[in-house]
Amino acid sequence: MTVLVTGGAGYIGSHMVLALAEAGESVVVIDNLSTGFSAFLPEGVPLFIGDAGDENLVEGVIEQHSVDSIIHFAGSVVVPDSMRDPLGYYRNNTFTTRNLLNAAVKSGINRFIFSSTAAVYGNPDQVPVPETAPTRPLSPYGFSKLMSEIMLHDVASAHGMKYAVLRYFNVAGADPQGRVGLATAGATHLLKIAVEAATGQRAKIDVFGTDYPTPDGSCIRDFIHVSDLAEAHRAALSYLRGSGDSVTLNCGYGRGYSVLETIEAVRRISGRNFAVQYAARRPGDIMTMVADTGRLRALFDWTPRYEDLDTIATHALAWEEKLLRERGGLAEQAQSA
Ligand code: UDP
Repeated sequence: MTVLVTGGAGYIGSHMVLALAEAGESVVVIDNLSTGFSAFLPEGVPLFIGDAGDENLVEGVIEQHSVDSIIHFAGSVVVPDSMRDPLGYYRNNTFTTRNLLNAAVKSGINRFIFSSTAAVYGNPDQVPVPETAPTRPLSPYGFSKLMSEIMLHDVASAHGMKYAVLRYFNVAGADPQGRVGLATAGATHLLKIAVEAATGQRAKIDVFGTDYPTPDGSCIRDFIHVSDLAEAHRAALSYLRGSGDSVTLNCGYGRGYSVLETIEAVRRISGRNFAVQYAARRPGDIMTMVADTGRLRALFDWTPRYEDLDTIATHALAWEEKLLRERGGLAEQAQSA
């Protein structure tokens, strides 16, 4: 039996495919390569280049490869882009998921793991945030994912499918062996920007907001290593293959680091003293986002291996250096510490 991974050539999906292949699972990928890279796939994993919402394609792949479980990553993930192009997000995320689910139902798939986001919570009333917190997204991105969650819930009730919705907090880092990582151009994520600064690709990093009522005035985030996140999906698969009921779970470590602490970790592990500039708050930012991970840890057989900010930053930096070497040599380094 085979696992279909949509978006398997992307940042998180490629870590998932590696984890599944290493565990001896049969895997097949659908990816339209809009942000993914076919070179990220290990040898022997079939790639179908196309849209996860193309029902004919999906049904054909399911039949041809005896797919019995789907892990759905394909979608758009940039919050500000979703503000500018809401309909594009409802197409790529909500509509695509609707069609994928339709193909899954027609093909009798009964296990579905969905890549969701902490953005469904909006501004939380309490932190750490439990899964029972109200869902009040602040962006079309968050709504597009929440609408997919709701569809999945309804489909499961109507058709007997079992699902795991995993709501990611701040995904970061790269494969510890350096095979895959975040290579999408124009990424805006804090750790990515920080390692770009540490490798001299940026003159400085801006800290968006230093006047929040937090210990050091900057925002607080719960970073989860992308390889640990992939393992959480493998745990979800085992759980659903066993007697587990459908479930919605936060994926983080339950520990927050401030933006300033995160930048400091990159400075420390890189030994490079790049410039840090205090800037105005970024509109739409939530002050503190930390997961309540009690249910994840209780329900899944999941033991994170990289639950440490320095390790996450080290892997992110190593990957960034590899990308630079592959692009023809390290750019001029930031000023030495
Ligand atoms: N951030 C920052 N400078 C940057 C990028 C991000 O200060 O160059 C801050 C951002 O304002 C937020 C935190 O880092 O408080 C995490 O932002 P990111 O975009 O990585 O993820 P988000 O939590 O918004 O999904």
